[in-house]
Amino acid sequence: MKTKNIKAYGTLASDAPLHSMNINRRELQPHDVEMEILYCGICHSDLHQIKNEFGGTKFPIVPGHEIVGRIAGVGEHVTKFKVGDLAAVGCIVDSCGKCEYCEEGLEQFCDDGVTFSFNSPDKYLGGVTFGGFSETYVCNEKYVLHVPPTLDLAAAAPLLCAGITVYSPLKHWQAGPGKKVGILGIGGLGHLAIKIAKAMGAHVVVFTTSPSKVDDAKRLGADEAVLSSDTEQMKRQSKLDIILDTVSAALDVNVYLNLLKVDGTLVLVGLPADRIPVGAFNIVHGRKNFAGSNIGGIAETQEMLDFCATHNITAQIELIKMQQVNEAFDRLQKNDVHYRFVIDMASLKNN
Ligand code: NAP
Ligand code: ZN
Ligand code: ZN
Repeated sequence: MKTKNIKAYGTLASDAPLHSMNINRRELQPHDVEMEILYCGICHSDLHQIKNEFGGTKFPIVPGHEIVGRIAGVGEHVTKFKVGDLAAVGCIVDSCGKCEYCEEGLEQFCDDGVTFSFNSPDKYLGGVTFGGFSETYVCNEKYVLHVPPTLDLAAAAPLLCAGITVYSPLKHWQAGPGKKVGILGIGGLGHLAIKIAKAMGAHVVVFTTSPSKVDDAKRLGADEAVLSSDTEQMKRQSKLDIILDTVSAALDVNVYLNLLKVDGTLVLVGLPADRIPVGAFNIVHGRKNFAGSNIGGIAETQEMLDFCATHNITAQIELIKMQQVNEAFDRLQKNDVHYRFVIDMASLKNN
């Protein structure tokens, strides 16, 4: 298959910095679009993966899965897009399209194995897929989203992973009027969860380990913000219907299971590498649910983008140049980001 050689940023080893490199994109297939990448967010999953914290990283790795851009080319059978349209790609770039989960719009759980936008087996070129820290992306139009034109493009990029990852469970477990929703961690996912749960009509309580974020949480729309190290405040906390755990590191979930109402659900979306111990009595008493959720399907991602446009929701971002990416990863590791780094991809041209 013919390929196009393009510029990207990636790394060859878990202990090496990212640097400029060249990668190949496949030539356009009949249903493919080529997108010129304008902005790409930096998710904590990019950090887990470049550091090989889950053990499955294939090097070289080019991360990036919160991708916003403009259509630069279309295959002969493409119907959803034309050259010049705004477009976005998130975590999913291929799936079997035939299994029960694909048919239900749950491509992330495809029986045949979903293809993620980076570090997933590449069915066309072999090796693994390369993500959005690059000039262009090529994939089947089915997995490409329309970006509502009212959204700020750079600030909308984090919606493609952080946004859908919190929207999907909040909707599934019916966050809305009359429900008390707890959000654990105010990072990329957590700060969007505050905005989205609030827009769904829920009463939102945020739990943070960072004293400096307490006021921010209220400004982002939370009804209550609790410093989790303050045991008195934790004791006074009223019970919650749903808790969304967006924490990237080990955390004692039993403390939060105890804050659920009877039949309440704690949904894990954070991906700490270590196992999470759950005490039997913490879920048996109160018929509680300890659940998980993984991103969201393509149709739901489009629904989330449209919901965010209706409610004027985007991420609070720090826009950086590609050349600052290693510093950004260091700061993300140290929990020093308010609240998402987004790379202005025009800066890649200067390399
Ligand atoms: P992030 O911006 O780094 O936010 C994580 C937050 O967790 C931090 O802001 C911090 O909030 C809290 N935190 C960090 N270290 C902590 C510690 N040692 N103890 C307690 N709290 C701590 O990361 P993100 O991009 O939002 O991603 C969050 C997690 O979700 C990551 O593990 C990521 O891989 C995962 N993720 C999962 C999915 C999925 O589909 N399931 C999708 C995307 C990302 P405070 O300062 O407020 O305490
Ligand atoms: Zn992500
Ligand atoms: Zn499938």
